[in-house]
Amino acid sequence: MYWDRSIETLDAGGLNKLQLARLRETVRRAGKSPFYKQRFQKAKLSAENLASLEDLKKLPFTTKDDLRAQGLKMLARPLTEMVRLHASSGTTGQATVIYYTRADIATWADLVARSIYMTGLRPKDVFQNMMGYGLFTGGLGFHYGAERLGALTIPAGAGNSLRQVRLMQQFGTTAIHIIPSYALYLLKTFDDKGLDPRGLPLRLAFIGAEPHSEDTRRRIEAAYGVKAYNSYGLSEMNGPGVAFECPEQNGMHVWEDAFLMEVIDPRTAEPVSPGEPGELVFTNLTRRGMPLLRYRTRDLASYDPTPCPCGRTHRRISRIQGRTDDMLIIKGVNIFPIQIEQVLMAMPEVATNYLVELTRQDFNDQMHVKVEVKESFFKEDLKYLHGLKKRITEALKSELLITPRVELVEPHTLPRSEGKAVRIIDRRE
Ligand code: AMP
Ligand code: ZN
Repeated sequence: MYWDRSIETLDAGGLNKLQLARLRETVRRAGKSPFYKQRFQKAKLSAENLASLEDLKKLPFTTKDDLRAQGLKMLARPLTEMVRLHASSGTTGQATVIYYTRADIATWADLVARSIYMTGLRPKDVFQNMMGYGLFTGGLGFHYGAERLGALTIPAGAGNSLRQVRLMQQFGTTAIHIIPSYALYLLKTFDDKGLDPRGLPLRLAFIGAEPHSEDTRRRIEAAYGVKAYNSYGLSEMNGPGVAFECPEQNGMHVWEDAFLMEVIDPRTAEPVSPGEPGELVFTNLTRRGMPLLRYRTRDLASYDPTPCPCGRTHRRISRIQGRTDDMLIIKGVNIFPIQIEQVLMAMPEVATNYLVELTRQDFNDQMHVKVEVKESFFKEDLKYLHGLKKRITEALKSELLITPRVELVEPHTLPRSEGKAVRIIDRRE
């Protein structure tokens, strides 16, 4: 049941010791990059004077802006040793580029293999990878991980829904890797063909790359007849394989032998307590080509240090609740997009898609929420629909504290993305 029992169940003392040894190694390696060489000198930090993990705090954080500004100055090995690059999806400005050595690709694949093995994927499985193969890490990252594990891997790529369904039928797919919003969307293709995904041999789904609620997970599980596991990662920390759910489905284990985690208050940069939401900060412990230290992810989550019934000792994080840079301020109220999704996906009448438009009129913010309603409910009379609209408005209001204008639309009429869903359009300037 463990991919690497000794590492996955290492006690706190052992983990701490391993992290310190690996941190020293990382500082030694990173010191070869012009960027960190200078930073280490300024902070008077070296592998030799690093007495405990706490000493790392002498070093300032590394940010996305550093990556953009410094480019190749972040590399700890010559460019000729790099065998691949990936770039972040760039939802917030210019993409950031990560370079990998051959050894980095191998350790990354092993982390992904460990993650999916944990959920029960085995070499006998047929794994269909429905993520974009390209600069985005979700495609190749999982591909190498599944091959490393030994599963038969179908490099399906993103989109082309009808082909996805045909591949599943033809090869008897048992596990899929899919963006959660796309998983819900793909149901329409099954429906159009008069097929029920529950009739397929599917048993596992790995969902990640974008924030999603517990209700979205439950919907995917029910519709496909699978167990769906949350998968978290970011290209700056390789890609997928940073944190993953175990069979308990109660938080994601962060692989702490490979990533040193801090969770901080994004305003004060002070550490937060367990259970309190904060920004995730990671330090690579095993990367060679481009190790990053104290990297501010902008992702918000809380952590749980209590033992997990699965026996793994690595701490767990909650679902990603949003990013420090996707918080919306509407009429002065702070709102994370996931709050809107939580409300909508908890309502059985709501179909799979919605769109939020923000406008400003006479200095007054307006929030317009278009919600797709399931076919069966959309057929109801006007009085029913009016009541439903009122209920959705009330539910959103009680969560967000502002009153949106809700519009009900027919299923499958709102725009779709093959990658991460775009659900907020901010037209305020
Ligand atoms: P990229 O580096 O382009 O692959 O994007 C990484 C970002 O995607 C992360 O920093 C998160 O904001 C988001 N992300 C990845 N996995 C998840 C997940 N399971 N839940 C929520 N957000 C995620
Ligand atoms: Zn666990």
